[in-house]
Amino acid sequence: MTATSLEQDLASLAESCDACRLCKLGSSRSQVVVSRGNPQARLMVIGEGPGAQEDEQGQPFVGRSGQLLDRMLESVGIDSNHDAYVCNIVKCRPPENRKPTALEMASCKPWLDRQIALVDPAVILLAGATAVEGLLGIKGGMTKIRGQWRQWEGRWLMPVFHPSYLLRNPSKERGAPKWLTWQDLQDVQRRLAQLDASL
Ligand code: SF4
Repeated sequence: MTATSLEQDLASLAESCDACRLCKLGSSRSQVVVSRGNPQARLMVIGEGPGAQEDEQGQPFVGRSGQLLDRMLESVGIDSNHDAYVCNIVKCRPPENRKPTALEMASCKPWLDRQIALVDPAVILLAGATAVEGLLGIKGGMTKIRGQWRQWEGRWLMPVFHPSYLLRNPSKERGAPKWLTWQDLQDVQRRLAQLDASL
């Protein structure tokens, strides 16, 4: 796919999301939040859903959690706006920042599927349990599954703690969630470098 046609397809997807009222989140949002970053990147980051700042600015991961994620990615040499395409399981903000319901996630999944098909990432970083549940249908705590590579539809998936959890657990000590996430992100960076070397 050429860069122009990819941009056109993503612009058309964003317009469709903007008009979407498939679930009730569509009626409480300020604006739809589809993506930021580079659609030609080999890394996709998927989070849960927009928070207050994302809903206000129309971009995913721009609040405190997003800023932490950006800093952590940067520490392993990944610029979230140039080296990644960033999006969420649901495109509209759940009121009070609650977790999206199973129905809301299912309603929004076709948009995510389309994003994945168009961007065609080699590696997907799943930020938090809701991202894992929304994409893979796997429920459960992140402690057991974070840091473990999975293969899914020809892509590499890495589940990591959500940055909002890391904001609540700021210790950088060895073995703490933040330290573990940093190990996971280094692993992601190594995987991307290997994939680049094999091109
Ligand atoms: S969350 Fe997704 S499915 Fe629901 S209204 Fe927004 S774009 Fe549509």
